Amino acid sequence: MSSPLPESSAADPLEPVRAALFHRIGADGVYARTGLYEDVLQRLTAFITRERDPRAEVLRFPPVMSRSQLEKSGYLKSFPNLLGCVCALHGTEAEVRAAADSHESGGDWTRSLAPSDLVLSPAACYPVYPLAAERGRLPQDGWIFDVAADCFRREPSRALDRLQSFRMREFVRIGSPEAIQAFREEWMSRAQRLAGELALPCQLDVASDPFFGRVGQIMAVSQRQQSLKFELLIPYHDGAKPTACMSFNYHRDHFGITWGIEGGDGAPAHTSCVAFGMDRLVVALFCVHGLDPTRWPASARSALGL
Ligand code: 5GP
Ligand code: ZN
Repeated sequence: MSSPLPESSAADPLEPVRAALFHRIGADGVYARTGLYEDVLQRLTAFITRERDPRAEVLRFPPVMSRSQLEKSGYLKSFPNLLGCVCALHGTEAEVRAAADSHESGGDWTRSLAPSDLVLSPAACYPVYPLAAERGRLPQDGWIFDVAADCFRREPSRALDRLQSFRMREFVRIGSPEAIQAFREEWMSRAQRLAGELALPCQLDVASDPFFGRVGQIMAVSQRQQSLKFELLIPYHDGAKPTACMSFNYHRDHFGITWGIEGGDGAPAHTSCVAFGMDRLVVALFCVHGLDPTRWPASARSALGL
């Protein structure tokens, strides 16, 4: 059994932000957000849209995706502990009714649940690779997508930068190894400029994903050694351990091989995604600049049209 999470302490420097912008709705890491918070999130969304490559194709995904597509992507090998699967009551009317009614008599209706063909999307970009593969061989210049989804990762926490349900926006590039590496390089410097416009302190650093278990530790070392992941880190307050608010991922030919995406030369396409943690960025803005956006630094107000 997991131990209860500690109550948030009054000394937590993020407490004023939590109190002003989030409402508890019965579970850690799953919150109602206020109008002010959503207004800033929308302005940040528009700010990022202005940076979008004009060739990008826009796709907005629902918070759920095909279970078999995520299985085929290899997610269970890397992060089985984070995945949420949609389960439902199946069967005849009598079976469903009996399961539901067992709750009234103190029984456990969840014992009758069975998995469906859906999982909660753990990142915004997974559905884009099979979709691109269906289109056949890549065009000369590959593809670029602008995608977004509400994402879920099963890691309950009271920390404001560790939500179970959070918004992710991504620019995804599919193409030759050279095009992919150029895309990622370009975005790593551009992201630092954008953080500067938002007057957010930041640093870029090589990173690894939280791969599961002991084998996962080896995967993380290898990912770091090959510099396959970088993160833009922002400290929420003086002396804070910085939070990863954006990531720059190079998958090499993993999705190209998995989905059979062929480049112009017939070789598997390479892919990269640049992910914006929208909720982490908005929390960063309020933590660093305060609760009143009209008093934020001029460059941040100008960037966000405030
Ligand atoms: P990644 O796939 O690199 O783990 O996640 C992409 C981005 O989503 C991260 O850089 C981060 O900004 C955001 N993100 C990842 N996990 C969480 C989380 O637990 N809470 C929130 N609010 N954002 C997250
Ligand atoms: Zn991605």
